Amino acid sequence: MTVRSVIPVAETSLGQEELNNATEAIRSGWISSQGPFIVEFEHKFAQYCGVRHGIATANGTVALHLALKALGIGKGDEVIVPVLTFIATANAVTYCNARPIFVDSDPRYWCIDPSKIERSITSKTRAIIPVHLYGHPCDMDAIMGIARRHNLYVIEDAAEAHGALYKDRKVGSFGHINCFSFFGNKIISTGEGGMCLTNDDGLAGKMRILRDHGMNPNRRYWYDVVGFNYRMTNLQAAVGTAQVDRLDELVARRRRLAQSYAEGFGALADRGWITLPPEMPWARSVYWMYSILVEDGLGMRRDEVIDALKGCGIETRPLFYPLHAMPPYRDSASGGFPVAEELSRKGLNLPSGPGVSREEVDKIVESVASLRRVTA
Ligand SMILES: *Cc1c(COP(=O)(O)O)cnc(C)c1O
Repeated sequence: MTVRSVIPVAETSLGQEELNNATEAIRSGWISSQGPFIVEFEHKFAQYCGVRHGIATANGTVALHLALKALGIGKGDEVIVPVLTFIATANAVTYCNARPIFVDSDPRYWCIDPSKIERSITSKTRAIIPVHLYGHPCDMDAIMGIARRHNLYVIEDAAEAHGALYKDRKVGSFGHINCFSFFGNKIISTGEGGMCLTNDDGLAGKMRILRDHGMNPNRRYWYDVVGFNYRMTNLQAAVGTAQVDRLDELVARRRRLAQSYAEGFGALADRGWITLPPEMPWARSVYWMYSILVEDGLGMRRDEVIDALKGCGIETRPLFYPLHAMPPYRDSASGGFPVAEELSRKGLNLPSGPGVSREEVDKIVESVASLRRVTA
């Protein structure tokens, strides 16, 4: 394997089956939002996650919006979301005229801290959206327990965690509705795309109606509710169904990459110069983004590390900024989020795609190590 002149932070892995299926969709003329691949993709992916119904959508953001709408979340409601996540998690709540209530991260594994959820629950709280951040599962037993005690819905945002396991069970199978994204940089991709999973027949039916402009399933072109056009195309699903067949292999590759990074970075981590991404004993992470924390001992700030690595042809990204810092959410957030702030200040995503070679890992490790040598 060679070392690419620029090692990308994310990349897709598309094979012959994806090409064959896409060709078949085009040859058949079914390239829009009807066709056999949509049903096949929904069925296959739901089955992979161990859930009864799959409702494919145009992207992951609208999957979240569809889930919230189907659960009746609306004006005046509050929904608990982690402060450290991609902004779409909170935006979907805002689209419903509901308010996202931010909760800090658990310092051990970076996802929403269940011990801080209950103090944020009010009489207006309707749901919790745990996010399996960067591919690491949330503590679902704790979250489902809180939801049961307070009579709240749970919507897993599993956009970054296809195939991840919480106590040997797939993420996306715990909440009332669970949402995935198939954007180009996710574990598997349909270009743009998303899916809602649920075991509830009623919710599945509601989401199918809302996804299709609100059309009554028994009376064509009759609309009982204001719905949306949130459908996926057969052309996207053609790619998706081939990707599901390769999901276990793609996850295995990411886990091997994480293992290579951990071995390479072992000495730097032991010295406390960097911190490696966590994996709790109850978790199997899919390492969507292999992320390290730049500690003071490295002698270089995170943003300087990003610039230095860029100079070596290594693409990286800062960890998400906490949402309470963003202009749309600045006024609505109360309280401090010290854990998320520290993670966000120190964290960066390294090249994490399925195409990163052993030699590229060596180069990345060597480049990070050399930063300390220059400054020492
Ligand atoms: C990618 C992502 C989404 C949104 O998915 P899109 O398909 O890009 O709309 C939502 N939540 C999280 C946590 C994500 O990483």
